[in-house]
Amino acid sequence: MTHSEDRSAAEAHSDRGHSEDRSAALLEVSGLEVVFDGFRAIDGLDFSVEEGELRFLIGPNGAGKTTLVDVITGLTRPAGGSVRFAGEELVGRREHDIVRLGIGRSFQTPTVFDHLTVVENIDLAASVGMGWRAMLRRRRGIDGPVGEALETVGLEAPADRPAGELSHGQKQWLEIGMLLVQDPRLLLLDEPVAGMSREERTRTGELLQLLCQSRTVVVVEHDMDFLRRFASKVTVMHEGKVLCEGGVAEVQANATVQEVYLGRPERRTEEKTTPTVTTTAG
Ligand code: ADP
Ligand code: MG
Repeated sequence: MTHSEDRSAAEAHSDRGHSEDRSAALLEVSGLEVVFDGFRAIDGLDFSVEEGELRFLIGPNGAGKTTLVDVITGLTRPAGGSVRFAGEELVGRREHDIVRLGIGRSFQTPTVFDHLTVVENIDLAASVGMGWRAMLRRRRGIDGPVGEALETVGLEAPADRPAGELSHGQKQWLEIGMLLVQDPRLLLLDEPVAGMSREERTRTGELLQLLCQSRTVVVVEHDMDFLRRFASKVTVMHEGKVLCEGGVAEVQANATVQEVYLGRPERRTEEKTTPTVTTTAG
């Protein structure tokens, strides 16, 4: 990956405006407010992520997790507050500007082109900004960043199959691969393991741990079993605010968290299949 090149590009970019404060977090959300028809979906949220972290963002349905991701990526405009990334204010910027600054985002429903092959999807993502004709004229090869992305997400075997034939889990990995060729500094993944088989979830957890070795990753997740296996630092959101933050055990022990989130019935079947669930990190 050409991550260092990307990083120096981002630094060069930030030098033009504000200089990047190295003591500051990579992502710093403060006093964020999002209002939908009078309803406060995000209500004075403060949230920050350090470079190189794998952060899990959890909370009950409607807590505002997706809305937060939407604001960071420029899809939703907040009523107030600020989102700073590597020293740059993101509020008011367009989505493609934010992508260019180094933020990649996946959706819960993978947005891949079913009729194109796996490698064509990744190739297409790598060609963003290039015209269609130039893209089609380009020699197709599974080398360079495209090959690396395929390998990272473990989709070398089905590389030449139409994406439409992939399982839901594989489509999520493909979407992550399509983000990786753009070499983002920060990856925001919205419920990537929802709908995945247990085996696919395990592979995704391992993929997340691999990804955070070279970039910063924020994962929105619901599945407590998954969290216990792969999370270290967790942020719990509730009613548009951060309810608590800390290690998995710490968060699970928090009485308010138990009340609003963990108190809900857990999937007993999963507990049975994993009698020795432990926190693998932190
Ligand atoms: P989460 O991802 O944590 O489940 P969301 O961010 O999707 O929660 O939603 C937070 C709250 O904001 C919910 O009550 C949801 O109904 C509301 N909401 C989200 N998007 C919109 C929208 N575009 N218009 C109106 N309400 C919305
Ligand atoms: Mg959501």
